[in-house]
Amino acid sequence: MSTRNVLDWLEDAAENAGSSPAFDMPGQALTWRQARARAKSAGSFLAARVSRQRPVLILMEKSPDCLCAMLGAVYAGCFYTPLDSSMPENRMRLIAGTLRPGLILCEEKFADTAGRIAGDALVCGWEEIGDAADEALLSQRRKQHIDNDLLYVLFTSGSTGAPKGVSITHRSVVDFVEWACEALRLPKGPRFGSQAPFYFDNSVLDIYCAMKTHGSLHLIPKGDFMFPKRLVQRLSDEKIDTVFWVPSALTAVARAQVLAENCLPGLKRVFFCGEVMPCFTLNRWREALPDADYVNMYGPTEITDVCAWYRVDRAFADTDSLPIGFPCENTRIHLIDGEICVCGACLSPGYYNAPDKTAAAFVQNPLRPEITEIIYKTGDLGEYNGRGELMFLGRRDSQIKRSGYRIELGEVEAALNAAENVALACCYYDAEKEKIIAAYTGSAEEKALKKHLKAALPKYMLPDVILRREALPRTGSGKIDRKALRQEAEHEHLIP
Ligand code: AMP
Repeated sequence: MSTRNVLDWLEDAAENAGSSPAFDMPGQALTWRQARARAKSAGSFLAARVSRQRPVLILMEKSPDCLCAMLGAVYAGCFYTPLDSSMPENRMRLIAGTLRPGLILCEEKFADTAGRIAGDALVCGWEEIGDAADEALLSQRRKQHIDNDLLYVLFTSGSTGAPKGVSITHRSVVDFVEWACEALRLPKGPRFGSQAPFYFDNSVLDIYCAMKTHGSLHLIPKGDFMFPKRLVQRLSDEKIDTVFWVPSALTAVARAQVLAENCLPGLKRVFFCGEVMPCFTLNRWREALPDADYVNMYGPTEITDVCAWYRVDRAFADTDSLPIGFPCENTRIHLIDGEICVCGACLSPGYYNAPDKTAAAFVQNPLRPEITEIIYKTGDLGEYNGRGELMFLGRRDSQIKRSGYRIELGEVEAALNAAENVALACCYYDAEKEKIIAAYTGSAEEKALKKHLKAALPKYMLPDVILRREALPRTGSGKIDRKALRQEAEHEHLIP
């Protein structure tokens, strides 16, 4: 029977590779059999407290236990949302308000925070889970499952100020992972070096491809990414053979000049997704590891991580643009007025609890008016090159990527405009300097404004430069003129 639930893979791994490493990080390692047992205990605990198809919010550090908590939610017939534990509490509250979880599962150190954002939700500690599994209850939940049921909801930046919860079904993940394992030529038992936080969609490939191929997921401590030499040593020590990272992480290593020729002979697969991969970075990696397989993947959270891919098959100059290539199997891409629009089983059924936002981005395919066929408008611009490969040209709105993080400048502006004594504010992104520049009018002191922003936005969204102006430049139609603001700031040398 075809796979309808990602747990089929977990059970297969536990049965056929039970004693092989599954989830590993310094200080904690689980085999597939142990991971299944822990996930089942969590599932039994959750199923006794939450009804089917309800969200379970998870407030835990990235760890093997966190993965078991996520899979436990799935055993309970629920779906999971891992939260970035470092985001401001106000933002967590917004997310919890949209999600209305049945239960928040947290580590002890986050219990107070969880209690403050919970609303009606039960708050339980991971320590309460215990070791027991209620097989009867789990199998009852499993029987009711269909592959249209949600697996997870991941929150991304929203332009109106509130994060959007992208919901994804089992069907989409099964389809994606089956494609990925084959197209990426994953062997049995690959060793993944995991960079992506679990609240970011890139982690979906790591987790479920490792599971399906009976491989292992090695959670690389976040701090290692600040020290490229240590990071490379970690890859070597842990015999990592596969990475799927945001280009920023690969660029940091390339720029630190820690890649000597053949320095990582075990690393066979270097995959990336999430933002533009500079050919400069790619070329430094290819020089060091000429035999590795390099694949550029493209896609937003709304289409289950990846909808187009390009296996690097030729040389590129440092200044070239890398194609995003071709649609994945069972996925169709239309360029409608230059915008990349996606159609297929990978599509999210929408933003959770946000029908208006869903209706704006998931629309009827204008090329198929005869039937109901939904496409997702990515907001990305594309074109085909002479070889028929899709090229990414940028955004049609003010969404940006910084260090791999997706940021709606509109969300930053909403936070600025909500601050006390700010009359009007806006911001723009200086891609070259990788800086968000904010400008405002009003009597707010910069210090107070910064404090307000820290309480409203995750660290990676905070403006790097804040300018207080007498007035903001306007276009002929009276809108804020961000281009003119940029010119003014550059002309006056206001950006360090
Ligand atoms: P996220 O939902 O965080 O995965 O972000 C999705 C957005 O990241 C896409 O809509 C693109 O703007 C950008 N993106 C993802 N992959 C690539 C890629 N390979 N090349 C260029 N941009 C990318």
